[in-house]
Amino acid sequence: MSTRPPELFPLFAGLETLPGVGEKTARAFAQIGVEKPRDLIFTLPHSGIDRRLRRSIREVVLPATVTVEVEIGGHVAARRKGGPARVMVRDVATEFQLVFFHAKGDWLEKQLPSGQRRVISGRVEIFDGVAQMAHPDHILRPEEARGLPDFEPVYALAAGLTQRGVARAVQGALTRLPVVAEWADAALVAREGWPGWAEAAARAHAPQNMADLAPTAPARARLAYDELFAHQLTLALARSQLRRAKGRISKGDGALRARTLAALPFAPTAAQARAMAEIAADMAGPMRMNRLLQGDVGSGKTLVAFMALLVAVEAGGQGVMMAPTEILARQHFDSLAPLARAAGVRLELLTGRDKGAERAAKLADLAAGRIALLVGTHAVFQREVEFADLRLAVVDEQHRFGVAQRMELGAKGRAADMLVMTATPIPRSLSLAQYGDMDISLLDEKPPGRKPVKTALISTARLDEVVAHLRRALAEGRQAYWVCPLVEDSETVDLASAEERFRALRVVFGEGVVGLVHGQLPAAEKDAAMADFVAGRTRLLVATTVIEVGVNVPNASIMVIERAETFGLAQLHQLRGRVGRGAADSTCLMLYQAPLTGPGGRRLQILRETEDGFRIAEEDLAMRGAGDVLGTAQSGLPRFRVADLERQAGLMAVAQSDARALLSADPGLESPRGRAARLLLWLMEQDRAIRLISVG
Ligand code: ADP
Ligand code: MG
Repeated sequence: MSTRPPELFPLFAGLETLPGVGEKTARAFAQIGVEKPRDLIFTLPHSGIDRRLRRSIREVVLPATVTVEVEIGGHVAARRKGGPARVMVRDVATEFQLVFFHAKGDWLEKQLPSGQRRVISGRVEIFDGVAQMAHPDHILRPEEARGLPDFEPVYALAAGLTQRGVARAVQGALTRLPVVAEWADAALVAREGWPGWAEAAARAHAPQNMADLAPTAPARARLAYDELFAHQLTLALARSQLRRAKGRISKGDGALRARTLAALPFAPTAAQARAMAEIAADMAGPMRMNRLLQGDVGSGKTLVAFMALLVAVEAGGQGVMMAPTEILARQHFDSLAPLARAAGVRLELLTGRDKGAERAAKLADLAAGRIALLVGTHAVFQREVEFADLRLAVVDEQHRFGVAQRMELGAKGRAADMLVMTATPIPRSLSLAQYGDMDISLLDEKPPGRKPVKTALISTARLDEVVAHLRRALAEGRQAYWVCPLVEDSETVDLASAEERFRALRVVFGEGVVGLVHGQLPAAEKDAAMADFVAGRTRLLVATTVIEVGVNVPNASIMVIERAETFGLAQLHQLRGRVGRGAADSTCLMLYQAPLTGPGGRRLQILRETEDGFRIAEEDLAMRGAGDVLGTAQSGLPRFRVADLERQAGLMAVAQSDARALLSADPGLESPRGRAARLLLWLMEQDRAIRLISVG
């Protein structure tokens, strides 16, 4: 099935083919991403208005939208140009006013002839002690009023759209629903009491009360599930394609791993041990591993990744670890080096800065298999680096890859197992959406003995106290970071503020004590600045957010963040994670510009309350919504039209296990349910998935 099924054509036709939609309206719809009748089906009302006929406006608590039958009294013309015209009306219990601005000619007299009865509906407010309804939404003759629904859906609008226009277009689209076979698991549908797809669509657009608009209402839950199921089916198809691709069996005797563990002053946590076992089992299997190692800062991912690399070496092959930046590659190298020494394997670092003969020699050693483990940047790996026998690639991802890019990487068909590391805790529903094609190992436990980081919120007005505190701490031999504000997301402005702060602090603490690192520094200077700080030659490091990810200096125990209220939650959490890595008590001083209000203030409160990355991530999701949490454009996370990842989180997990189960029972989607699922993929425009089944 590589062309769209004909029964879907009416839903994929132009919007103008719908009654009441002309070219202009179609353009207005395009602003909200609605380009065809199909899109209208999945653009659900976000709220609703109770239009039940009341006897009197006295029956409801004002202000509120009310529908009542009234007898029309006198008209009072606008007293001045632009002023309101009024029409007195009376229901069974009370008198009130209808108010109109800019009413033209005799429109009012025609609509509301004195002495007649009309059913009117609109928002009634008390103004100067008088009940008023300005510009009623509906003015109907009593005999027409039966056509008014008790509950009216409310849609998001854009310029050029009206509620009535949207509702009419939606009704038109709803007449085009094809008869479809059930693609969802029958037991699930029965258990949840869900209607079939077409009925769910019709019901979701015709809510009868507020409860029907809740994310848990059966019709809405069903449509959300369908959307998530289609997404998970795509991921599951990608996953099964990757797994079908020939993998390598990498089984080690455990000797190198045992030697390494014996050299460590600590034992792995239960979470680390579990992750190590999951990875080793994947690598020993014939299918290609595609696994995510997710763990908060400090959860000990490095050791787990290293153990995985050793499996590759024990099996007679090689492993590579890739980082997004040079600084991080260097850090990974530095933290892996002692482990590699303990294991007795050769580990090398390859970055864009390796040049000439040295680089050539490294490449030759790699190609000959004389280097067991390599650390480098993604860029280095993507260029021509030949391995003798690459068995595992560890990718330190930090959200730089989306699903689509991973699918491409996988399609290139290197047989090596893949382990992706991410330090950014994200809520489960989001990680399923973003990493649903992967298997996940979660480090949900921190190594014992870590002390909490003391977090204080301090007004910038007290900058002097902060400097005094730093002076004492540095005198005691401690080290500190000073992160400069993000100004309007502009690299140049950030830079200016960091350099300014650097100069000011250098005057206070003296030459040679303060270092500076930012993204615009030439690579060699950046390295030198980092190296000076790591070696303790500089004691205070002024930085932009380049130090956010991965940097590890255990002796650094103070983190100062200037204008902390302008940073995002996840970023602040990452920055704070840079301290609390050594034996000393650590502090994070979050400087803010008073007054501390709004979302910025709320973020800092959350950070003061907890260090739990997953809790912080949940709060972040609640405050910002799914798209923003992952930084939509680069995240590869699809925008869901119906599903609400925050409020319908549970559905994602169900969708994932259903999708995997369906594919394992019916890999080619050939069964009746499989065929129905193909139609769903078409309906949900999952082109990538459709391409995968067409070739598969
Ligand atoms: P992550 O990369 O997940 O942020 P790291 O791997 O850098 O964390 O580990 C953080 C620190 O914890 C390191 O100093 C590491 O040596 C230490 N560590 C790792 N695992 C354990 C453990 N099981 N017990 C004690 N300390 C550990
Ligand atoms: Mg690390």
